[in-house]
Amino acid sequence: MLDMPLQDIEGRRLEALRNLQILDTEADPAFDNLTEVAASLFNMPIVLVSLVDQHRQWFKSRLGVSVTELPREGSFCTYAIAASGLFIVEDALLDPRFSNSPFVVGKPYIRFYAGMPIRAENGANVGTLCLIDTQPRQLNEADQHHLTLLARQAEQLMYLHYRTIELAQQTQQSNATKARYAAIIASAAAGILRIDGYGRILQLNDSALRMLGYERDEVLGRNVKMLMPERWASQHDGYLSAYQKTGEKHVIGIGREVAAQHKNGTHIPVHLAVSEVESDGDPTVPSSREFIGILSDLRAVAAAREREQHERALLQVLHRGLTDYQALLSGNTLWTFLKEALKELTYSEYALIGEVIMQFGMPALQIRAISDLSWSEPTRQLMQQLRDGEMLLRNPHNMLGQVFAGGKIVLSNDMLSDMRGGALPEGHPVLQRYLGVPIVDRGEVIGMYAIANAAEDYDDALVEWLKPFTSTCALLINLYRQLNEQRRFTEELEAARDLAERSSKAKTEFLSSMSHELRTPLNAILGFAQLLGNGKQPLGERQQRQVEQILRSGHHLLNLINEVLDLARIEAGSTQMLLEPIQLQDVFDDTLELLGSLADGQNISLQVQFDDSKDCFVEADDMRLKQILINLLNNAIKYNRPNGTVILRAERRDNLMRISVSDTGIGIAADQIETLFEPFNRLGAEHSSIEGTGVGLALTRKLARLMKTDIFVESTLGQGSVFYFALPLLVTPAPCSIATATAADSTVHEQPPKQYQVLYIDGNLESQCVLQALCSDMADVQLHCVSSAKVGFELACSLQPQLILLDIDLPGINGFQLGRMLKNSPSTRSIPLLAISTSYVATDKQQAATLGFAGFYSKALNLNMLVQHIQQILTQQGAL
Ligand code: ADP
Repeated sequence: MLDMPLQDIEGRRLEALRNLQILDTEADPAFDNLTEVAASLFNMPIVLVSLVDQHRQWFKSRLGVSVTELPREGSFCTYAIAASGLFIVEDALLDPRFSNSPFVVGKPYIRFYAGMPIRAENGANVGTLCLIDTQPRQLNEADQHHLTLLARQAEQLMYLHYRTIELAQQTQQSNATKARYAAIIASAAAGILRIDGYGRILQLNDSALRMLGYERDEVLGRNVKMLMPERWASQHDGYLSAYQKTGEKHVIGIGREVAAQHKNGTHIPVHLAVSEVESDGDPTVPSSREFIGILSDLRAVAAAREREQHERALLQVLHRGLTDYQALLSGNTLWTFLKEALKELTYSEYALIGEVIMQFGMPALQIRAISDLSWSEPTRQLMQQLRDGEMLLRNPHNMLGQVFAGGKIVLSNDMLSDMRGGALPEGHPVLQRYLGVPIVDRGEVIGMYAIANAAEDYDDALVEWLKPFTSTCALLINLYRQLNEQRRFTEELEAARDLAERSSKAKTEFLSSMSHELRTPLNAILGFAQLLGNGKQPLGERQQRQVEQILRSGHHLLNLINEVLDLARIEAGSTQMLLEPIQLQDVFDDTLELLGSLADGQNISLQVQFDDSKDCFVEADDMRLKQILINLLNNAIKYNRPNGTVILRAERRDNLMRISVSDTGIGIAADQIETLFEPFNRLGAEHSSIEGTGVGLALTRKLARLMKTDIFVESTLGQGSVFYFALPLLVTPAPCSIATATAADSTVHEQPPKQYQVLYIDGNLESQCVLQALCSDMADVQLHCVSSAKVGFELACSLQPQLILLDIDLPGINGFQLGRMLKNSPSTRSIPLLAISTSYVATDKQQAATLGFAGFYSKALNLNMLVQHIQQILTQQGAL
């Protein structure tokens, strides 16, 4: 029984015992030797190295007992470890603490016990070295000293045991760490290698071997220079020794991108980070220094960078092509630019680019830019002819023909055995790889490009990648064609203008000399006739009549000369209009004043009617407007009946002023209206007593048209006629009429957006108004009216309308010429054209049909027929 209270020290003691990690360990000969020495030294039957655990005493070494442990309760050792020194019980039977102990009264029948505590490093008594006998004994002082020494020895053995275990554990830990590092290095994705101060390779992992293409044996022990391109290899020794001497760094401690050399000689972009391994070795001895290099493979990064640069290069080409096309086209460098861009983008040795043109109904390739493939003087000349466009390629079966004529993509990476294109002529540079791509616009092959001899194979992915380039080429070819078309058009215009100017000048000169030549003798005739009539010598009655006849005929002739010359001047283009804001009231007043007496003389009532727009201004040439009104009023009076009426009327119609002259006279037969405006055609009036030249209405219409309007007539035979025309109405007088006229020329009448775009080109405003009114009833039609051929052509190109209505009688470039241009231009050739003309001549209709017009309509228009035809064409267009 333990009758001694447990002390606090017990916890520390047990902890110290467990830390020693000695309990339940194998027998140790060192301890056994110790117990054997003690047994023989003290002549003891039982010697134990006993360690006292919480509830037991366990024997690290035992001599004289077979059990390895005994319960702690009632044990001598428990008392011994509580003592500060040697604990001796000379006769247990006489000691009341032990006399009843089971170890005393039972096996092993202990009578004598001497135990010396064994201490742990922290001073706690963890066990004893004890001597036991079954006889009562005594220990002399020397024995006690020896026992103490042996106990200290047991303590040393115990420390040794502990150190051994600790060492083993440390070794195990270090091995585990090593294994971990080895696993990390072996499985690292980066290449890792270790070199010494001489640059010799001590170790490298699988990633490094895979990256560089070597087996481990081929590199271990060799200089790391073998893994570097020559450029770095030659300097590496220098860098390494300089670093070791001076600490000067190139790669060591600084990560940087370099190239490594693969076993097959290719260079691999890598990131290299080198650091020195700290060691206790002598830093002046290179073999004792070590460096670890980590190589990261940058091939994927480099490839991505290259791809990105490639994309950027393509974008730059597209951007320049689209933004700079005008400069490229005007400098004639477009094609060379495209060809060079193509070579660079595809890393090809040769490139060509060409435009497809139709010749005799067959496609032909006009080379626009081509790499030099000549190999002799004759072939050099041939290349030059190709470049100059003097020679076209027509063979549809060879490698080019299959592209430009067949519209196929032709790709070959083995041209030498490719039988598709036939053999190349002898001397022709060898072509290994070839790619030909058609440039297609709206289903039509308009060009092609071809490349040859890239370093790597061409493939479908490249064709796909080049698609934006191909589309840009299509766009540029179209622009090129359009600009050429416009240039040609401008040149034609200039030539026509020059011709017109020259012939107009000649006509003007002729007319002024004619005017002079005719008026001079007429002046004499009229002058002398007047002298005769008013002479001092009175004339006989007959003579007087003859003189009056001379005067009448002379004035008639003068009128005729004036009108004919006026007409001729207009036709010569030398009559200039000054369009300006005019108040109609003033013009009407002046005109009526001139004609009032004539009307009175014939008992005709001459009236003026204004609607509420009396104060309005119109845009017209003041003098020529009066001339028109005088002619119309003159006729209305002349061809009226006695006591008839003539009304000069102004009515507002939207933004136009309609001016009409109506009479109650003889009227004009319907079948004569067509010829009413022909010069010298008096429709039979020449047989009447009414004086006239037959030129007045022809001149009137010409003047009206110069003012961008036209004269229309409605008449009923025997009841009277109405002649009318329209002038643009100005709300407030504009400061400059010419500017207004120019602006009006290009005005696009705005309407809400509709499905079909219809362009109407007609110099006559009245006619434009009629069509405007007509189309405003057609909800799906948006009508654009312009007055000149030039503006009309430009609008047709940009607007791409579904239908063009074209006035044949346009000033300058006439409707037939414009129609031809529209049919010749690729962008407008498919737009249907309808001709509208004042002409009734059959040959004009024929010419319109030959030019491809869809219809020909004469003014005055049969509006029902026209509307039906327009709708039919638009429906067809919509169905496309
Ligand atoms: P003219 O000098 O004969 O009047 P115009 O050119 O002015 O020549 O007219 C051509 C012809 O048209 C005239 O000769 C006449 O037969 C016819 N005409 C012109 N105005 C009228 C009218 N208001 N009423 C009837 N016939 C007209």
